[in-house]
Amino acid sequence: MTALLPGNIVYAGPITCTETHAYKSLGHYILEKYKSFGNQTVMIDAVTGQEYTAKYMYDSVVRMAHVLKHFGVKSGDVVGLSSENSIRFAIVLYASFAVNASVAPLNVTYSEREVHHAINLSKPKVIFASKLTVDLVAKVAKKNGFVKTIVALETYNGNEHIYTFEELMSSANIKSEDYFDTPVADKNEDVALIVCSSGTTGLPKGVQLTQYNILSTLDSNLEPTAIPMGEITLLTVIPWFHAFGCLTLITTTALGTTLVYLPKFEENLFLGAIEKYRVLMAFMVPPLMVFLAKHPLVDKYDLSSLMVLLCGAAPLSKETQDLITERYVLNILNLIYIYACKHMKIFHIWYFDCRIGVPIIRQGYGLSESTLSLLVQNDTACKAGSVGTLKLGIYAKVIDTETGKTLGPNQRGELCFKGDCIMKGYIGDAKSTQTVIQDGWLHTGDIGYYDDDFEFFIVDRIKELIKYKGFQVPPAEIESLLLTHPKIKDAAVIGIPDEEAGELPLAFVVKQANVVLSEDDVVKFVSENASPAKRLRGGVIFIDDIPKNPSGKILRRVLRDMLKKPQSKL
Ligand code: AMP
Repeated sequence: MTALLPGNIVYAGPITCTETHAYKSLGHYILEKYKSFGNQTVMIDAVTGQEYTAKYMYDSVVRMAHVLKHFGVKSGDVVGLSSENSIRFAIVLYASFAVNASVAPLNVTYSEREVHHAINLSKPKVIFASKLTVDLVAKVAKKNGFVKTIVALETYNGNEHIYTFEELMSSANIKSEDYFDTPVADKNEDVALIVCSSGTTGLPKGVQLTQYNILSTLDSNLEPTAIPMGEITLLTVIPWFHAFGCLTLITTTALGTTLVYLPKFEENLFLGAIEKYRVLMAFMVPPLMVFLAKHPLVDKYDLSSLMVLLCGAAPLSKETQDLITERYVLNILNLIYIYACKHMKIFHIWYFDCRIGVPIIRQGYGLSESTLSLLVQNDTACKAGSVGTLKLGIYAKVIDTETGKTLGPNQRGELCFKGDCIMKGYIGDAKSTQTVIQDGWLHTGDIGYYDDDFEFFIVDRIKELIKYKGFQVPPAEIESLLLTHPKIKDAAVIGIPDEEAGELPLAFVVKQANVVLSEDDVVKFVSENASPAKRLRGGVIFIDDIPKNPSGKILRRVLRDMLKKPQSKL
């Protein structure tokens, strides 16, 4: 029961589930879970249709854990993982947990510059790379001596000395092993995941999530919540290299559900998977919700199994929510009509059942820095536009951005959270860690409030972050890239609203004197040096000066205001 503690601190009470406490480590817990689910199907690759049982996963994770041990990978070491969603991603992830190593997932769309930056944050000893990324990873790793081993998850045709997943898994001494003695972890210290986030300002940093961060999040997810448990089918297309994707993968493993996964979004495949596997719940981001709300293809598929849409990573508009609900009712009525024409007698019963089946939309809110889990809608906290109520074990407060004073209900300010899910810190960056975590409170850089029912609403973002389709686009990163262009004197990047993508990056650019530089030149330069999410889809505007305060900080609000004034010199 959520309550207001003295000092205007909101608390939902402690996590009561202790399921994960008995295990030696996160890897031990995952292996025991797989052991207990036996021949149950736990994963389905929606592209190949291949189904994987818990027993298959157990055997594969054990084998890969022996491989990692053989390479000397242990607590304190980092395993890089550059892959689209695939069964081998999950195997490497869990095997790394089994040896108490940290996993640093790498965005598969990263450019050479981004891979270089990311691996220099986490310094992986071994990197596993999919067919799509192995050439680039091998090229970058060659220049970074700390990478000792590269493993191709599928195939590799280049010249570097690279192992393949297949060859390692079938090596004679590994093949015979069917048990792995997981070492005891120091759960508070051993980092399980290092994910990239720019936090409230600056360049991407390595967020360290400990085994304890993840285990306590699992305990809170195992409490009776919006997430169903047991032998039910869930669908995800959210990349596992992003914190949202990776943590939902781990949670679904703990819940014992069947997870249907896609390596990337493809309209027919996504809808076809829901229909074919009778998917009950799908993990969503707002652009996928817009797709469900508007795309004509949606009417061609039977989505009547879909009961819950769990949406996070970026704001979801009320309009999109309403459109989905309306469309779904129409879809269901359509199906009923077809069915009723054939079986008139049971028309009434069907109509009733299907109305109940309109999918429930549940918004969730969290950050990479908080193992995601902070707020989620449930049966009683589901007002339109809200991101739900506090999950168990988490404290929240809203502070005045000018004075730092803690505010009360219905007052807008910066949201701050405290709890077992808050990261250990940014790797090798104590200064940035101290900026976002003060006295144990994570300062989110998001502006919001809670109402009298303790339901939270996000209304703005004060941190320097653009979210394109749920992906982080740190303005400072694009700005520093633009400044490397010889014809650019100064630059500032902001996000402009976009219905489908959420926000699009737009650059204000000051040219060097007497140079010729077009908008296309600037867009192309960023496209060639950054991953697709960071492309300047919002455009480029040339100006004479970037507005800054006396200490040199870019006044982004002034730039936003300039966009609102069409009569200005823009
Ligand atoms: P990331 O670390 O990439 O997950 O990004 C976290 C940020 O995404 C948050 O600080 C918010 O700015 C934004 N975010 C995540 N979920 C939501 C949501 N449901 N509504 C609004 N913003 C969200």
